[in-house]
Amino acid sequence: MAELRLAGRPASPGFAEGAVVRLVEQKSTRVSSGDPQREADDLKQAIKNALSSISDLADRAEGEAAEMLGFQVAMLEDDALAEAAFESIAQGVAADHAWREALDAEIETYRAADDEYFRARSADLEDIRDTVLDHLSGSHVAFSVPPGAIIAARDLAPSRFLSVDWSKGGAILLSEGSPTSHVAMLARARRVPMIVGLGEIPECASSIIIVDGALGQAVVSPRDDTRAEFLSRQTADEEMAIKAAAHEHQPAATKDGMAISVMINIAGVEDLARLDPKICDGIGLVRTEFLFGEGPHLPNEETQYRAYRRMLEWAEMRPVTIRTLDAGGDKPIAGLTIDGESNPFLGVRGVRLSLQRLDVFRIQIRALLRAAPHGYLKVMVPMITVPSELDAVRALFGEEYEALKANGLNVKMPLLGMMVEVPAAALAISEFNADFFSIGSNDLTQYTTAAGRDIGAVASLADVRHSAVLKLIEIVAKHGQTSGLDVSLCGDAGGDADVIPLLLKVGIRSVSAAPSLVGRAKLAISNFSFDKAGGA
Ligand code: PEP
Ligand code: MG
Repeated sequence: MAELRLAGRPASPGFAEGAVVRLVEQKSTRVSSGDPQREADDLKQAIKNALSSISDLADRAEGEAAEMLGFQVAMLEDDALAEAAFESIAQGVAADHAWREALDAEIETYRAADDEYFRARSADLEDIRDTVLDHLSGSHVAFSVPPGAIIAARDLAPSRFLSVDWSKGGAILLSEGSPTSHVAMLARARRVPMIVGLGEIPECASSIIIVDGALGQAVVSPRDDTRAEFLSRQTADEEMAIKAAAHEHQPAATKDGMAISVMINIAGVEDLARLDPKICDGIGLVRTEFLFGEGPHLPNEETQYRAYRRMLEWAEMRPVTIRTLDAGGDKPIAGLTIDGESNPFLGVRGVRLSLQRLDVFRIQIRALLRAAPHGYLKVMVPMITVPSELDAVRALFGEEYEALKANGLNVKMPLLGMMVEVPAAALAISEFNADFFSIGSNDLTQYTTAAGRDIGAVASLADVRHSAVLKLIEIVAKHGQTSGLDVSLCGDAGGDADVIPLLLKVGIRSVSAAPSLVGRAKLAISNFSFDKAGGA
């Protein structure tokens, strides 16, 4: 087979090489006995077997995984969970249909819950549903993955992840999936490389595949030179990881003593679990769209307020930069974003959508105003293209602030800044009435190079190192220096050790990166010297 490159979204960094094991979803071949008593007995047995397999996993698990499996065990032990299914069986419905229907109804209730914790548990219920269905149809037996294998699947349930022995390496390639899913969280915690959103993964059963989780790239049947390049990146990465760990808790500074701020990017409160705030200078980007899930039930004001407040409290008065909803583009939300746009990245996304859906936007603004007194909140608005958009958002904040205050609520007006990710905004930067700027280098690069960030075939063109992109970044950094307004950079380039020197050279003094990249970013900064680079 000729070399084939696959590109998706990074969900967990790391390298892997091995054979692909494809997980095909089993269509249930179970035939109903037609006897309600037998069907009920079969379901009872399947629940018992599922309980025993999940309990086994729970006994071996630790931390977050143990907590998640403990929840699954408690749910399965509760007779109430299967009550509706047994009632349907008594009326002649087959065991698998009855169980699926009962669990789907339960899952829907969890998904619609206002509380974020309960909404997140819906994925566990899906897992429970599928584990019992596997036991009912006997297909659980088919799930066996040799250690070190690279799993290719549409999506992967957390319990399946936990039943694999990852001690010999391996990786996960998903044609769908999300970097913020439970399984992605588990993969990051166990350092299993994982790429999501790969689209159709071709049949490559007998081929070797190499995986670079941080880049979101996999290569099937790599050529010798591709493999050699991969191995040298892997070796360099291992060496760097050791050095980076030593830098994580140090303040970042260049070799010649210039202090650089390093903040973190998060998608939700879960990302902060077991993270020490002392490793960073604050949160540079909260991607709130992940709090909104995939719709159709959007989080209410209370749920959002609690999530934002927890982030502010975690940061202990370090700045927390929460971005207002950036739905659209590659982040559709059912019932909110517009279907059928010919090019969603150039359509109604980010602030364009928020200003069209004031019903949703005002709820987020109120939650932010109420959270603000609990720390140092900065709010930034994505996809700003013209000054009037930011003015409109500022006016909405003013209106909601007055209304909440009039009702006696404890509110505070946060600093209001903008993302600079549209080239037009970078070029006209002095025209915007922003309190601070944060450069979204991912979108700035795709819009400048006309190369979609989600299109593997043009990935080499979408390069932040293009001199045109760096010039735009420099314009914004210079504006920050002359105006005295903060400028940070929160795109993926901010955590890329190869790009950081270029950013420093064009005047960037603050970056924000995934928590796992903080040590590496600080290490790259410490190796840089303005004297030698002749930078700004
Ligand atoms: C960016 O565009 O660089 C950015 C940080 O925003 P997102 O990746 O969420 O679009
Ligand atoms: Mg962006």
